[in-house]
Order: sequence, then C-alpha cells, then structure tokens
Amino acid sequence: MHSHHGMEAYFSEMDNRDETGFRIYAVLGELFTNPKIRMRVGIYGHFYETTVTGIFDLPDRITDCLADYW
Ligand SMILES: [Zn+2]
Repeated sequence: MHSHHGMEAYFSEMDNRDETGFRIYAVLGELFTNPKIRMRVGIYGHFYETTVTGIFDLPDRITDCLADYW
C-alpha cells in the first residue's frame, strides 16, 4: 500500500511498472479532503481491481473507490 497524498487514488503508469509481483496492492488518495482507497490484485503484471471488502476493515472516513460498482 502506498499513498498519493493529496492527489487522486489511482494506479499510475509508474505503479503499473513497479507492482509486478503476485500481491494485493492498494493506493490511498485525497487524504486531507475526502480520503479514498483503491485496491487491486496483481499477478505478475496483470491486474484486477476490486473492493477492499474481506481484505481491509476501513475506518468510516475512508471511501472505497470501487464500492459503488459492486
Ligand atoms: Zn501510485
């Protein structure tokens, strides 16, 4: 997990280049205004974005970027 500080919670091209393992990755963004989290499963450079449900227990103030898609 890493933070984009005050910027949007999204996976950048640099993130795509760096996150090449078989892991769960997450990025936090908009920390000071509207904190959000985005998560994905990475399998050797292939990615599947999904909700944090079942992985992270979020505090009330943090919004899951994909929560509305499910
Ligand atoms: Zn990033």
